[in-house]
Amino acid sequence: EADKIYLLNSVREIEDFPKPGIKFKDITTLLGDAKAFTLLIDHGDAKAFTLLIDHLVDRYSTMKIDYIAGIESRGFIFGAALAARLKTRFVPIRKPGKLPYTTISEKYSLEYGVDEVCIHIDAFSAITTSKPRVLLIDDLIATGGTATAAVNLINKAGAECVEACFVINLTFLQGDLDIKKTTSVYSVLEV
Ligand code: IMP
Repeated sequence: EADKIYLLNSVREIEDFPKPGIKFKDITTLLGDAKAFTLLIDHGDAKAFTLLIDHLVDRYSTMKIDYIAGIESRGFIFGAALAARLKTRFVPIRKPGKLPYTTISEKYSLEYGVDEVCIHIDAFSAITTSKPRVLLIDDLIATGGTATAAVNLINKAGAECVEACFVINLTFLQGDLDIKKTTSVYSVLEV
């Protein structure tokens, strides 16, 4: 519990970013473990980022994860760090036009307009004897549109999303309701 408070306090809130009226949760301060926040709680020399990755290693080391799929761009930071610790593979889920090889994609609606996520068509081809088990990770779930599209994409690519993991869940938006219909959801911090 003290660790969760410590982590929450390490996330900076930016008013009116990227648009007026939005309070943006800025996780770069968690990554850098800003000194001002570490003073809030005497936590020895623990660092927020290390605390978080240790926690995720504990949770996922026994779940037989074949791939960690991270959503552009902050999902790459947490996903790649976790994949390295679990000694498993990392797959990027990206915005259109970024991946160099053949992709498959999934569109999803935003408040105004549509967005799209893409993955390489052979992203999960290293596992051939069974359905690849994928952990999806992102820094934050808001409306859940991005993550739900990412889960659909993982399924389309022939794998199974065993869990969707978020560092922060903005629970008042109930973005996890939809995605819970297709996979299990775990959020480290709920605000
Ligand atoms: P959703 O599709 O509405 O759930 O939005 C989630 C996506 O937008 C994730 O990829 C997040 O990284 C990003 N996002 C939305 N709001 C924030 C925020 O306050 N801080 C950091 N990322 C955010």
